[in-house]
Amino acid sequence: MPPAESSSQKVVVLGGGIAGLTAARELARKGHSVTVLESGDRWGGLGTWFNWRGHALDQFYHCQMPSDADLLELIRDLGLGDSLYWKPTRMGFVVGGRRYAFNGPMDLLRFNPLTFPERIRFGVISLLLRRLGLGKDLDRTRIEDWLVSCYGRAVWQKILRPLFTSKFGPAAGDMPALYIWERLGREKNTVSRGYLRGGLKLFLDTLVDDLRNRKVDLRLETRVDRIHETGRTLQIDAGSTRIEADWCVSTLPLPVLRHCLGDTPLAQRIKSPDVPYQGVVNAMFFLRRPLDNFYWAPVVDSGTEFDGIVEMTELVETSHYGGHHVAYVMKYCDRSSALFQEDSERIAARWKGQLLALYPDLNLQPSDVVDVQVFKAPFVEPAYPLGYSELKPLIHDGQSRIFLATSAQVYPKITAWNSSVRLAKEVAGTLLAHMETGMVERTPERVPATVQV
Ligand SMILES: Cc1cc2nc3c(=O)[nH]c(=O)nc-3n(C[C@H](O)[C@H](O)[C@H](O)COP(=O)(O)OP(=O)(O)OC[C@H]3O[C@@H](n4cnc5c(N)ncnc54)[C@H](O)[C@@H]3O)c2cc1C
Repeated sequence: MPPAESSSQKVVVLGGGIAGLTAARELARKGHSVTVLESGDRWGGLGTWFNWRGHALDQFYHCQMPSDADLLELIRDLGLGDSLYWKPTRMGFVVGGRRYAFNGPMDLLRFNPLTFPERIRFGVISLLLRRLGLGKDLDRTRIEDWLVSCYGRAVWQKILRPLFTSKFGPAAGDMPALYIWERLGREKNTVSRGYLRGGLKLFLDTLVDDLRNRKVDLRLETRVDRIHETGRTLQIDAGSTRIEADWCVSTLPLPVLRHCLGDTPLAQRIKSPDVPYQGVVNAMFFLRRPLDNFYWAPVVDSGTEFDGIVEMTELVETSHYGGHHVAYVMKYCDRSSALFQEDSERIAARWKGQLLALYPDLNLQPSDVVDVQVFKAPFVEPAYPLGYSELKPLIHDGQSRIFLATSAQVYPKITAWNSSVRLAKEVAGTLLAHMETGMVERTPERVPATVQV
């Protein structure tokens, strides 16, 4: 039941990605007065869309997994259950310029980059890997140490190291093994993936309409640059506008939050570890012809700057893209890197040559590439240090009026819409309980560093 008028509180949500919009919905449902501030000119954050020749398309490849329970519940709750469909998809692997199917025992037996004994070991260990992690303190075990102990150094060097380095940079081997252990729980090689007919725009339009109906004040192109706490009120500055609130939920990436807190007393109280973030450069290719029909194929040691190919039309009808086949290729990198800073047109031209060179047998011609759209995002996820379960920011410091729901807190879950929805619900629930009791809640429980059955 909504609270009485007098108990309705004013909450400002920072960031209009999936986490911010979900938190706003949870709070507005309980009758609170909610404002969402988003710096971009569209909703959705990393899961946003753009207009291509009259088609509303996802900027970054997105699909749903059957295990995305919180997201699927939200989709159904918004009345979009019938728009969601599932399709089995396949995986490939490109090593040394050669393309391999990578979907099961027969593919593994043909996977030449590994010797025959390495293939057998790879297959057996992969089946057992989640069990092999049980009872271990994987949060404090380096990925490299754990995977070398399981698979052997040769498999690490040939396949696994390039895979992780491409996503997290040279320090990838130093990250906690817990991250990969969790990831194995979400992804399999051959798996049904889900997609909403209508793409991310349909989802966002429906969610934003729902928020409007709940009287949420939604403001685009409103970049927050300072947050102050004065007594029982928060002041949030965005350009020349100052907004006062009782509470704030921040979904901003940690470096942006730190900037907004500046040297205010709040900065001392709110734990925001200075972890390096990976960004992404992502190019979307519109093609006249299909590639290999693998939804996802990592690319290692193949003379490309990008390190993965997602052939989206393996999952989504070509009619969604005006009859074109679509492949996204991506490189995760630091926002200060030369690649991230480079002009998008130059990246598109160079990556087009690199992509075509991977498929000599298909005799793809430059004219088969109808268009290339490059998108970049500076903050995708942290390259987590060892022991991150202890380092990650708390939802609430127990005293201030700010609650945190940033993707840097979903660890050890992987960075995904489902993780952000789940976190946003948890944070909104914590704030609601805090408002109700007026009491300082207990410090949220940490994810146990030891993996338990
Ligand atoms: C290439 C790529 C592929 C992906 N594929 C998938 C997938 O297949 N499935 C899946 O589930 N997930 C996928 N993800 C992950 C998913 O997109 C993210 O986990 C999710 O969108 C994070 O949502 P969020 O709201 O937590 O953060 P964000 O989306 O980052 O939202 C933060 C918001 O804050 C805004 N902001 C920043 N600074 C300010 C400021 N100063 N003032 C106001 N607003 C500000 C930003 O503009 C942004 O909208 C993918 C991500 C990428 C990059």
